[in-house]
Amino acid sequence: MSFNVSESFDVIVFGGGIAGMQSALDLADQDYKVAIIEKDASIGGKMVRLDKVFPTLDCASCITTPKMASVAHHRNISIFTLCELAKLEKDDAGFRAKIIRKPRYVNQETCIGCRQCEYACPVMAPDNDQMGLTARKAIYIPFTNAIPQVALLDTESCVLCGRCEKVCPTNAVNYYDREEYIDLSAKACIVSTGYQLLTDFATRVYGEPAQNPNIIDALQLERILAPTGPYMEMLRPGDGKEPESVAFIQCAGSRDQTNGVGYCSRVCCMYAIKNALLIQQELPETKVTIFYIDMRAFGKNYEQFFQNAKAKGIRFVKAKPVIHSRGENDSVILRYEDQEGDGRNILEEFDMAVMSLAILPAWNPSETMDLPVAEDNFLKAPFPKMAPALTGREGIFMAGVVSGPKDIVDSIVEAGAAAMEASNYLKAIDALRAARSTRIVASNI
Ligand SMILES: Cc1cc2nc3c(=O)[nH]c(=O)nc-3n(C[C@H](O)[C@H](O)[C@H](O)COP(=O)(O)OP(=O)(O)OC[C@H]3O[C@@H](n4cnc5c(N)ncnc54)[C@H](O)[C@@H]3O)c2cc1C
Repeated sequence: MSFNVSESFDVIVFGGGIAGMQSALDLADQDYKVAIIEKDASIGGKMVRLDKVFPTLDCASCITTPKMASVAHHRNISIFTLCELAKLEKDDAGFRAKIIRKPRYVNQETCIGCRQCEYACPVMAPDNDQMGLTARKAIYIPFTNAIPQVALLDTESCVLCGRCEKVCPTNAVNYYDREEYIDLSAKACIVSTGYQLLTDFATRVYGEPAQNPNIIDALQLERILAPTGPYMEMLRPGDGKEPESVAFIQCAGSRDQTNGVGYCSRVCCMYAIKNALLIQQELPETKVTIFYIDMRAFGKNYEQFFQNAKAKGIRFVKAKPVIHSRGENDSVILRYEDQEGDGRNILEEFDMAVMSLAILPAWNPSETMDLPVAEDNFLKAPFPKMAPALTGREGIFMAGVVSGPKDIVDSIVEAGAAAMEASNYLKAIDALRAARSTRIVASNI
């Protein structure tokens, strides 16, 4: 593959979620030049789409948005959105990355984020940034605090009516935009591409009864609970009614080798408790039940958070329910074994159910960079205890959920560690190069 390097950086960070942003900021503050390669139209990752965070119940976007702004305004950081790695190569001079930039169909330099195109567009399409729970226009800014505040056009929904182009005050709409390659060079890389959920779990395992609009996953619930969410209040998606009962189904795919997910996804117990409390706060009459196998409250103040939820009337049932059938008005009927009683099977009806789906890696590096992957498909840490940010490849470090499920605190700590490892590495190679050139000069005298 030939590379025609257009820009050089000290470090390239792949993935602009909370881990990638933190690593980039830590390095940029040390005066290193950093590029963030983000596949979505905005940086921010999953955290900016959450409602509140456990165990403090701080507003997630109130914490993430200032971090995103610091990244965007940092003189040492360049953000490349809608971009993914095509190939990474390394030689004595460092890394060369071939990046694919997907077309935005809107000129990022001239778009002023006024949304005139969005208002004029007549087409509605499912809004993926609201987890498909509402609609957006065919040309749109992904969400209110997206960075960059630049529109993008979804060509699959666009009817080419030309209205967006006509109303744009800066002539930024460009229907002829094309996918292009950008070649970058760097001395080190950090991989922080995060996670995705096992979204096909319910329909694959339970079939037709799971195809009920009132069965959602936990990231969808985060959007429903968020003040900037699809309904701006806690309603069930099927008919927009306030749910009188909500069931949380834990370990939906996790800790189950039949799905290839033998591990615990670590954060589900805590986010289910968080969301149960938030539903109770908004709808005090709603009965909230968490079906769990084991409760894992591993972090600081997490056990107190669990005990507090019990004291506040959240019902905890030790059982692994199956989705049995669809009840009247699209209610969800669960069947479970009464493990704490006489072991009989119980059928119970809920207005809606939330699946705590298994966490999987978002990205498999196999075709683009040579990185060791562990049996669980997350990146392998050769020294997980002493140096969790090392990947086993010289000059490539990692941070966040890319190496395994973890909460925000651990992702941030690991991001700092990855930045420190990268900074030490940069200093070492600079020292080595300086020593080599001194030797060359000396040998020429
Ligand atoms: C429902 C739910 C609720 C949660 N609630 C909490 C909570 O309250 N408190 C808490 O501590 N933790 C919570 N978590 C965990 C939290 O989401 C993670 O700890 C955190 O988001 C990890 O950040 P990250 O940067 O590693 O990954 P991500 O947030 O996944 O960010 C990764 C970024 O990389 C990008 N990317 C992916 N692949 C590529 C690629 N090939 N090229 C370029 N970019 C790529 C993605 O688009 C994304 O922007 C929750 C998790 C879930 C599922």
